[in-house]
Amino acid sequence: MNKVIILDKRPIGKPTPEDFRIDEEAIPTIKDGEVLLKTKYVSVDPYLRARMNDSKSYVPQFELNKAIQSGIIAEVFESKHADFKKGDFVSGNLEWKEWQMSTGKGLQKIDGNDIKLSAYLGILGMTGLTAYLGLMEIGLPKKGETIVVSGAAGAVGTIVGQIGKLLGCKVVGITGSDEKVALLKTKFQFDHAINYKTVADLRKAIKAACPDGVDIYFDNVGGEISDAVLANINKFARLPVCGAISLYNNTEVALGPRLQPIILTKSATMRGFIISDFSEKFPDAIKQLSIWLKEDKITFSETIVDGFDHIPQAFIDLFDGKNEGKMIVKVF
Ligand code: NDP
Repeated sequence: MNKVIILDKRPIGKPTPEDFRIDEEAIPTIKDGEVLLKTKYVSVDPYLRARMNDSKSYVPQFELNKAIQSGIIAEVFESKHADFKKGDFVSGNLEWKEWQMSTGKGLQKIDGNDIKLSAYLGILGMTGLTAYLGLMEIGLPKKGETIVVSGAAGAVGTIVGQIGKLLGCKVVGITGSDEKVALLKTKFQFDHAINYKTVADLRKAIKAACPDGVDIYFDNVGGEISDAVLANINKFARLPVCGAISLYNNTEVALGPRLQPIILTKSATMRGFIISDFSEKFPDAIKQLSIWLKEDKITFSETIVDGFDHIPQAFIDLFDGKNEGKMIVKVF
């Protein structure tokens, strides 16, 4: 049989395992022009939380009692499609199913030889693109500047920091455990890292780590962490607003400091983005990330959870910071 993960209830606040249901259905049989895909790796991502709400977002919401979708790496198990053959590996926005049929629409073939397959959900996928294009297009980094990144030990954050270092910037990360602080300073070569859960005064800690002020704030989390960074920005600072995970489970709109006086008096630029805004730049960005990877100039971490049934819990664990680098579930 073929297991499928269904959205059973719309989460209220932080998602729970009871919001999901595992159903079984037949493995599909394919017709001409179709392929049968066997799921290898499933990406769980914070943005999926917004799709579970009943409110409009930039991507359509998931329907109740239907399979959830996310970035998936799959193997072509059987093909009746001219462009794909058995044994090909593909990536695409696919359903949380062990097996599924595809017409090939939206599938991209990937090379399983050079680099591990799961990297196409991380550094060579949406995550890498988000880090690279958010930083380059909105952060506009210049050598010698100071970059602060929140959610620093996650999939996007670890890549932002490394690119900043490659470009000759000083990089300071904010993250949620001492182990992650150590990882950022060793494996990822950050200049400083701060544990926001244990530091007495985050605003002061950022000031101490950034004596020349903050030129770029790559914001992955929003909320109070971002309030503390904004209190330290320099004139003409750039603030790519990539994510706001600290607010995704809120059931009421959070109030914080009014930002206009800071943005105004610092002549700062704060710009939100959705990675698809930059879709025409994807090929060049992937080319550059691949070169850096091949030259060992950047690296990546993954937290790989084993087993299809654990996809919902892996997703929930993102909100407790249980991942280092990209959170991925290995299925087959
Ligand atoms: P991560 O790998 O960074 O995983 C999420 C991390 O967020 C956790 O590990 C945890 O780390 C941190 N976190 C969880 N809850 C909180 C909280 N309440 N306060 C502060 N930190 C918290 O995820 P991604 O790298 O995939 O995504 C990072 C951000 O970028 C997300 O907000 C996501 O929505 C956004 N994003 C935006 C895209 C776009 O197109 N704009 C595309 C892709 C991602 P810790 O232990 O440090 O708390």
